[in-house]
Formats: sequence, structure tokens, C-alpha cells
Amino acid sequence: MNSRIDLESRYCAHNYHPLPVVLTRGEGAYVWDDDGKRYLDMMSAYSAVSHGHAHPRLVRLVQEQVATLNIVSRAFHTDKLGPFLARACELTGQDMALPMNTGAEAVETAIKAARKWAYTVKGVPNDRAEIIACNGNFHGRTIAIVAMSDEPQYQAGFGPFPPGFRRVDYGDLAALEAAINANTAAFLVEPIQGEGGIIVPPDGYLAKATALCRERDVLFIADEIQTGLGRTGRLLACEHEGVRPDGLILGKALGGGILPVSMFLARKDVMDVFRPGDHGSTFGGNPLAAAVGLEALNILVDENLALRSAELGDYLIGTLRELSSPLIREVRGRGLFVGIELDPELGSARAMCEALMERGLLSKETHETVVRLAPPLVVTREQVDWAIRQIREVIAQMDELRLAS
Ligand SMILES: *Cc1c(COP(=O)(O)O)cnc(C)c1O
Repeated sequence: MNSRIDLESRYCAHNYHPLPVVLTRGEGAYVWDDDGKRYLDMMSAYSAVSHGHAHPRLVRLVQEQVATLNIVSRAFHTDKLGPFLARACELTGQDMALPMNTGAEAVETAIKAARKWAYTVKGVPNDRAEIIACNGNFHGRTIAIVAMSDEPQYQAGFGPFPPGFRRVDYGDLAALEAAINANTAAFLVEPIQGEGGIIVPPDGYLAKATALCRERDVLFIADEIQTGLGRTGRLLACEHEGVRPDGLILGKALGGGILPVSMFLARKDVMDVFRPGDHGSTFGGNPLAAAVGLEALNILVDENLALRSAELGDYLIGTLRELSSPLIREVRGRGLFVGIELDPELGSARAMCEALMERGLLSKETHETVVRLAPPLVVTREQVDWAIRQIREVIAQMDELRLAS
């Protein structure tokens, strides 16, 4: 057993089940372990590393900014925050933004904004606001957020939970329509469910849900923490259906693979509900994070990473769909956001991830049956081809082993 793994397991809470590899360095789409073995990172930290590891422009910028100004809190203005938020609003078509650090904080911010908007603008009676979320959602791990979850493990042992949340089936417009009432503040939805297993909703769902929300005076809030910033082949996954949400949540890749940077963006009349003292974060919007976030956005545009994701994603999904094995139930996704669903009777996603790791490809299972493939968007066609070969061979190996037994 690797002594570094022993040390980490001895002192770190066991709230994850990592693959047995100790990473020490990363560059572009590759990471290296403590034996110097190289791996293609097809996980990219749940899409937080869309820019690749140690992007040279970000490394240069961080070195400069870290020696200049890092943390001052929002008690003061800085030269970095305005330009960052202005660029984020310009690229996403939103009016204003509220900077946070982690995705969960930005989701909490969205919930607070939606509730206060319901009371002060829509006229919902005090403490009666409801937010509708979807079955199979993942929006983070705070108490309020897991209150929205239907995953038993996320809630077990952590109650009681705050009220004010409802759930409907993902992709089911009639269920959404039936769940909306006079107290509904917002519909919170992932354009593609990531942790739920890379679930792509039916065509037209997002556009129709948005129209329904507009008609019923309900905020349509898109959690694009994982799907956003080029991951699905457009800057935002909502753009596939021409949807501009009333509220938008970004995180993960917004930090350029370097820092936690998140934000809630919205229309002016939604963001205007916040008054000084209503909400905040000591680190949210700090100059280092703002400088990194702005550069991360500029790199996405300059390097056309969304287009690259669209093209390589189509290629990856198309090629994987040609693999024929009883082990594979479905290959789904959009852009470089891909899930291979396995038949659990015939093989486990964890076993497949371990076999891929042996061959130098890092991925991670989600929900026991789905192998997620979401490499940094800077990945090359050659690297994707190499990955496809490894996947093909591992599947053949698993098929053979099963037939032999
Ligand atoms: C990862 C994720 C979150 C939570 O972000 P953290 O930075 O882990 O708090 C929320 N929503 C979605 C869709 C995510 O993928």
C-alpha cells in the first residue's frame, strides 16, 4: 500500500472513495502520479479543469497577481472585481452578478435571491416561497441544498431540513406545470444532469420550461456549474435551446482549474433584492479570484474552447456509440460531457475506471453504473483517439473475462 494513501486515509475524513492513485503534477490534459506515470485526465475535477492543468496564461497571471493583491474582502472596492463581473455578464447576457467561491455557495445565493424576489417583487406571503427542483438533481452539499435532493444518502443522518422545496421528474413539463402554484419562486434546474449520470433532457424541455416559468411569473434558474463555460459545446448549455435564464449559476471552470470561483448572475430586478448586509462571503470576489476568473473567461473565448468541445464531443460520442458490447447500455452526452452507462449485471463502472486507470486514463464512476468522460477542453484529437482505444480494449477485456467465467 502506498504510504501517502495511508497517511491521507488516516487523517482525512472518508467522505470520498478515491481511486488508488497519488497525483503530484498536472499539465494540460495530463497528470502524473508519484511514480512518474502519466495519465490522461478524463475527469478534469468534475469539469473544474476545463482549461487544462496549469494553463500557462493562468499560471503567469496568478504569479503576477499573487505578488500584487489577493484578499481585501468586499469591505473595499478593487480594480479586479468590476472588469470580471462585467465580462461574465457580457458573455452570458445577464445584468448583474454576485461573486462567491464554491458552487454550493452560489446555489445558496440563488435560493436566497429567488425567495427574497418572491416576497418583495412577486408578492408571495412571508415564509411561503417554494422552489421547484428536479428528481436526480445535484446542486451541492449544504443542508438547504441536500433538502432538495432525492438521493437518500445525501440526506440520511443530516436532518432536519428546511422546508420550501418541491421536486418534479426531470424532463417532465406537465409535472412542472402541475407543481407551480402562487407561491412558487423559482424552478432550479441543470440543463444536463451531471452527477445524476449525464442525463440529457428531451429536446425542447429547457425552452418550454422557460416559457412556462415566464407565463406563471416564476424564475427560471439554470445551475450551469458543471455544464457551463464550454463543457457541452456552447458557452452555456442553455444556448442549445436559445434560453436565457432569469438566474444563472456558474462555478467549477470559472476558477480556471486554479481556485474556487463561483457566481450567481441574474436580471437586474432579481439581483436588486440584495441590500448591504443581506448576504456575503469573506473571500467571494477577491482580487486574486477575480483576476483568475476574468482570464479564465477570456481564455475560453480566445481558444474557442466551446467549439472544440462541440467538435471533439461529437466525435467521441459518435465513436463510442459504434462500440458494440452487451456491457454498454447507452452512450449519452453533449460536447465533451459524456457518460457511458453500463449494464450493472454485466460489469461495474468502478471496475471499468480501475482498469482504465491501469492503462493511464483517469475517469470516475457516477451512480455505480455510469463512467463519466469529461476531459479538459484543451484535449487534442490524438488524445481523444488514444482514450477511445483504451476504452475499447477495456470493454473487450471485461467482455472476455465475463465469458470465461
Ligand atoms: C459541482 C456542482 C455543484 C456544487 O459545487 P461545489 O463547488 O462542489 O460546491 C452544484 N451544482 C452542480 C450542477 C455541480 O455539478
